[in-house]
Amino acid sequence: MALTGLEIYKQLPKTNCKDCGVPTCLAFAMKVASGQAALTGCPHLSGDAKSRLDEASAPPQRLVRIGAPCYVELGQETVLFRHEEKFHRPPTVALKVSDKQDEAALRRACADFKTLAFHRVGETLRPDMFALVNESGSADVMRAAAQTLDREHGVPIVLISETLAPLQAAATGPLAGKRPLLFCSGQLPVKDLAGLAKEAAAPLCVAGDLATVAQCVEELGKEGVKDVLISPGRTSPAKTLEFLTQTRRAALKKKFRPLGCPVLTLADSDDPVANALDACGYVCKYAGVVVANVWDPTGLVTILTARQSIYTDPQRPVQVEATLHEIGEVTPQSPLLVTTNFSLSYYSVESQVEASRVPCYILAVDTEGTSVLTSWASDKFNAATIATALKASGVEQRVSHRKVVIPGLVAVLSATLADESGWKVLVGPKEATGIGPFLKSEWSAA
Ligand code: SF4
Repeated sequence: MALTGLEIYKQLPKTNCKDCGVPTCLAFAMKVASGQAALTGCPHLSGDAKSRLDEASAPPQRLVRIGAPCYVELGQETVLFRHEEKFHRPPTVALKVSDKQDEAALRRACADFKTLAFHRVGETLRPDMFALVNESGSADVMRAAAQTLDREHGVPIVLISETLAPLQAAATGPLAGKRPLLFCSGQLPVKDLAGLAKEAAAPLCVAGDLATVAQCVEELGKEGVKDVLISPGRTSPAKTLEFLTQTRRAALKKKFRPLGCPVLTLADSDDPVANALDACGYVCKYAGVVVANVWDPTGLVTILTARQSIYTDPQRPVQVEATLHEIGEVTPQSPLLVTTNFSLSYYSVESQVEASRVPCYILAVDTEGTSVLTSWASDKFNAATIATALKASGVEQRVSHRKVVIPGLVAVLSATLADESGWKVLVGPKEATGIGPFLKSEWSAA
């Protein structure tokens, strides 16, 4: 959080000695506030004043890194609402695994984890971490399970246990140097937690109500443990959302630093559908880590899609390159479809073309990343822009026919486009899902 010149000036010696090359302390403070000078420019700044200024200028929410060498970063969010700027760091999704599973089951879990990848609007969506829960009650079993997960699939791991020994066994054993997130779900003295975090050189998560976690974070800070997450623990979705909202508001609006930590949430009840829905809510409302017992691809893709949607920049439409795309083994007889360069529009068309197994050309017209109807309404997707794009794409030299398929939603353009381009215009389906049947029943290059 940037400090004002006056706030910086209050911490300066106020001697106007000019050793910083500036006539007065106030002028120096103004330069620091505007980024034209660094605090180190004043050789007389006391250590106390420097740490007060460092503390005051720190971001309201701390940045925490989990995992090594493969890692995720959380926190340092700056706004309450996405439209104010954007959300910066998508929450990590950690899939729950019990240490009670035998080695073969853990290896299967790792193999399954690797297959959980979904392609949507040009991105690959995956879960990020394992959440290994100590349900065996044994430190040795926890250590062995952590070793298997790390060996089979080295993604970052959240270690969850009610007691300290299983966390210590895994974090200082097979995961030593790999910065697992240590989440002690039981009530333990802060000194013990701090000792473990320092011994394992790993981030820590503390759970409880707002007052409890705030006090823990302050005490951990005094012990030198700064990489901390907070959690409401196992509680209802309503209480979890309340916790998420209150902590974000306290950190950003009230600048209350003990709650300026990423939040870990748990969606691990016995009902996988409820878990997926709860996890989506937490993703949308500020979670840093979502521990979810959702291995079913349908539930998982719901969570990951919500995350992808919330964490795009609302001021920058997601676009694909406005050019001629080849889908499959195209030939001069392949159909030519036109759409806009809005990612969701383009990939909806592309996925349906792929599913149809009919190789096609797709011409993405530059509409500044807006959808078919939006760009048509704003006159960016009209007969002239499509005709220009057709010409510029060079598709005339690639196909033997002169037929172009336009989206059914802009059927009104067909006559004008035919006049402007000289191509025969076919009106395609209104929804992308109709593309496959359309290609099979309506398309002919002849
Ligand atoms: Fe003030 Fe420090 Fe500059 Fe001296 S060197 S004028 S004390 S800011």
